[in-house]
Amino acid sequence: MEKQIIETAKLIKKSSFTIAFTGAGISVESGIPPFRGEHGLWNKYNPEVLDMNYFLENPEKSWQFIREIFYDFFVDTKPNPAHFVLAEMEATGLLKSIITQNIDNLHQEAGSKTVHEFHGNSKTLICLKCGKQYSASKFDLKNIPPRCPDDGEPLKPDFIFFGEGIPEDAYKNSFAEAEKADVCIIIGSTGEIMPASYVPQTAKQTGSVIIEINPEETNYTRQITDIHLKGKAGEILVELGKYLFE
Ligand code: NAD
Repeated sequence: MEKQIIETAKLIKKSSFTIAFTGAGISVESGIPPFRGEHGLWNKYNPEVLDMNYFLENPEKSWQFIREIFYDFFVDTKPNPAHFVLAEMEATGLLKSIITQNIDNLHQEAGSKTVHEFHGNSKTLICLKCGKQYSASKFDLKNIPPRCPDDGEPLKPDFIFFGEGIPEDAYKNSFAEAEKADVCIIIGSTGEIMPASYVPQTAKQTGSVIIEINPEETNYTRQITDIHLKGKAGEILVELGKYLFE
């Protein structure tokens, strides 16, 4: 493994455009469970609760689960060493941007500046009627659904539900970054969510080397990965950091 880490560090130092593509796995060491796998949230909840039509018809019921999954879990979570190493890589010029599927805001809390949020963010709520956005922290989520102060309509978390499109800017910017990348580091993603999974595939097709950090094998490992650093994001990135920042 050390040999692979040294090789990866060399590639990143030589690269002129490294990007990171992150999924739920990078936040597991912060205490947020992923959706899939042994301890995944979909073993406990029905994905229907995040379906747009279900939300529109049953905002209160939908919010009972949304609150439990996203706000009770996320409230006290902090970035972990993996988030901090990525932030330091950006600050030292070794990483251009992060494209994340996560909605937990932990990259920004760790200090990362250029973060393209492919699936939105849970920290803001949006009114589907007037389009106004509010900080989720302004609402007492004991009372659900939270309602727009202006028109009384139920507010929806500003991350995408099943049946919604990807935010336009995030989509455009993520693929533009993938096309420019000569190294793409995929961290903690199964590669099962489309169209997000096309981002690293685009990087590969346009000539990028693909590094993958994940304790398990994924669709990417089998299809596009050049170097699989098999292990937890926090542990692997801290090791990598030793060679990157020496
Ligand atoms: P996923 O839930 O499908 O898969 C998680 C991946 O992380 C798996 O491949 C697993 O092996 C890996 N993993 C587990 N522990 C890890 C660790 N310590 N270090 C590195 N990798 C680890 O995740 P996904 O592919 O990102 O797709 C799920 C969707 O759900 C995403 O769109 C994401 O937006 C959303 N989601 C977000 C959060 C969050 O914001 N933290 C949490 C759950 C789900």
